[in-house]
Amino acid sequence: MFHVAECRELSQAWDLHCHTVYSDGTYTPEQMVRLAKDSGLAGVAITDHDTTAGWKDAAAAAVRYGLPVLRGSEITADDAGVSVHMLAYQYDPGNADIMAVFARTRQARLKRAKIMVASMAKDYPITWNDVMAQVKEGEKTTVGRPHIADALVAAGIYRSRTEAFSGLCSSRSPYYLPTPSPTAHEVVAAVRAAGGVSVVAHAGDRKRNRTLLSDAQIEVLIGEGLNGLEVWHRDNDDEQRRRLLGIAEKHHLLVTGGSDWHGAGKPNVLGENTTDEGTVERIREMGSIPLC
Ligand code: AMP
Ligand code: FE
Ligand code: FE
Ligand code: ZN
Repeated sequence: MFHVAECRELSQAWDLHCHTVYSDGTYTPEQMVRLAKDSGLAGVAITDHDTTAGWKDAAAAAVRYGLPVLRGSEITADDAGVSVHMLAYQYDPGNADIMAVFARTRQARLKRAKIMVASMAKDYPITWNDVMAQVKEGEKTTVGRPHIADALVAAGIYRSRTEAFSGLCSSRSPYYLPTPSPTAHEVVAAVRAAGGVSVVAHAGDRKRNRTLLSDAQIEVLIGEGLNGLEVWHRDNDDEQRRRLLGIAEKHHLLVTGGSDWHGAGKPNVLGENTTDEGTVERIREMGSIPLC
């Protein structure tokens, strides 16, 4: 029997999956830490897409509000055509290999977003400048579809980001392009080499992928050094949670949870899914930088 339970006592719970203005969230790292403190969480992780740009602000806010913060990122990856998001925590931000992975992905994201917008611009009143107007931290922000969605909202084409994601920004839209990404194998290796902890995010989300990562695919990654699975996430259904827990139990993996909070950009509520303190302690011990 598996004994890792979803952590519901907020004072002992951490939200390990949160986005800020340094990617597609709408609040600053400081606001994130303050809101986490106000909501009674024991701690929070910053996990912007493909960047460490918000780490400094998050560390300063941790001191200011007296709330411990794990530093991490959500890394865009691919495994044999399955889109994979990998959460990585507490790695050395000075590691050249991981920084090179991020630089490549962010460039690929920009190029892909520009092409998507250029093709939308033939049919809709939207320009690249409109998209950049939605990017809150300039070149430091990892640009993605949410910024295109926000520009479409500003142009009056949709009422909300979520509505844009059901229309022109959907992965089924004729304007959609995937982001060229490193393989999940490369990401596991890079995070490991940088002294960090790697976790597959929302591996059971059937909306993101027609085909999910198989048990065998996950087990190959475990053999390469993958440390955990994000089980407690709103987009993993019960059947998938059971599957992922089974794999985690078999291989003694970390089981994590997080809200995938994007501020006003998504309905996900800060602290709606969490990770217990014992698991966070293991991540802290395994990581190569101190908690802040
Ligand atoms: P991209 O990585 O550029 O392909 O964009 C995908 C990102 O958009 C993910 O990080 C999601 O968090 C975000 N996203 C996906 N669906 C929605 C939605 N319905 N509303 C807001 N944001 C979304
Ligand atoms: Fe996101
Ligand atoms: Fe994700
Ligand atoms: Zn996320």
